[in-house]
Order: sequence, then structure tokens, then C-alpha cells
Amino acid sequence: MTFYSTEFKKPITISRKNNIRRLSLKVCRITGKISISAPKFLSESEIHKFYYLNRSWIHNQINQCLVPKIVNDGSFVPIEGNLYEIVAKKNCSKIKFLENNQICIPKNISNIGKEVQTFLIEYCKSIMIPIILKKPNLIIQKIKKINFKDTKSRWGSCSSTGSIMLNWRLIMAPPSVYNYVIIHELAHLVHMNHGPLFWKLVQELSPNYLKDKEWLKKNGKEIRRYIF
Ligand SMILES: [Zn+2]
Repeated sequence: MTFYSTEFKKPITISRKNNIRRLSLKVCRITGKISISAPKFLSESEIHKFYYLNRSWIHNQINQCLVPKIVNDGSFVPIEGNLYEIVAKKNCSKIKFLENNQICIPKNISNIGKEVQTFLIEYCKSIMIPIILKKPNLIIQKIKKINFKDTKSRWGSCSSTGSIMLNWRLIMAPPSVYNYVIIHELAHLVHMNHGPLFWKLVQELSPNYLKDKEWLKKNGKEIRRYIF
């Protein structure tokens, strides 16, 4: 069920649920979608009242929303900290880097965003895997698997079984930033916590890591805005 909010100029989704006792409200930070979860038999007027009382909270949340950047012909996408223009060209047979910070893509491709995404993931792997393999043997021996994903809340992870996950969107960040995340995750193979010894090792392997950590905190949202 939805109702249209003239105030926010968008529909509000209401989902009725058996297993909840209270009303709750959510605003998606990426899309700005507003949704309300309500107990199954609560009256509609109660739901409207709840919405009405929470309008200023909704406004606040919407103001913090990131406007998504949809990747298409003519878009600019950051790669290793530099902006590249996506250009569809008739005489381009395969997506590739051109000089002058451009990426050409064949003209007849129907889903340019997805094509660029696949290209970025492959590029990310081609850059980051060799970086990992250059690390000390002591660390490399412990790696069982390396996955590249796009998780909403994390830039990387490391499991006690030696499985490393890196967010491929990091390829959009400057090299020192993705190098720091790689080192952070590899250091967990030695120290499975965020204790002083862990940070000491990160510092040894990545002396300027505080700057890179700060970059991610400030600009991480920006590289999550791109919709492929
Ligand atoms: Zn960590």
C-alpha cells in the first residue's frame, strides 16, 4: 500500500507486518524512498498521524540523501582518483581506456552502466590482486580467497579463515586509499582485532594511513553515489 505525500512529492510505501508491534519509519539514504512499517491491524488514521508527527525527521533525512549519479554516455566517473569521461563511439569495438582521461564504449551497447561496471571490476582486480601478491609471504600464505563485492556498509573484510573481501568501488578512490584498505584487511590476517598491535602493523605497512582513513570517511559516500 502507498499514499502520496504532497509535502515530499513522492509516494510513501506502507508495509503491514504480522510480527511487529510498533510503527517504524525509514528513509533510504541513497534513493530517498520513504517507507513505513506498521502492525497488521493498525488503523490507517494512526499511520497517517504517525507520518504527520515525523515529517521534520523525514525532511532531515531527505536533506542528507545523496543524489545518485547514473552512469551513461557522457558521464564522468572517478578511477584511481581521476575523472574519466565515458564516450560511446561508433568505431570502438570494445570498452577501453583512451588517452585524455576517456573511456570509449561501443555505440550499440544497450546498458552502458553495466558495461562500465564490469570494466571497472575487471580493472580493479587487475590492479589490486598484484598489490596483494607483492606483500610479505608470511601474510600471503594465510590468504585463502579474495572476493570483490559492492557492500553498502564496508570497504573490506577479512575472516579468520583467510577470506578477504574488498569493495571494488575502491578503484574509484586514489591509490593510497585503496592501498590502505588492502593493508588494513591483510593486517587482520595477523591480528584479528583493532587493537594497538593491529594499528602498529598498519602504520608500518602504510605510514600515511590516517590521511587515507580520513579520505574514506569524507569521500566514501561520493564513490557510492554512482549507479551503474
Ligand atoms: Zn578492520
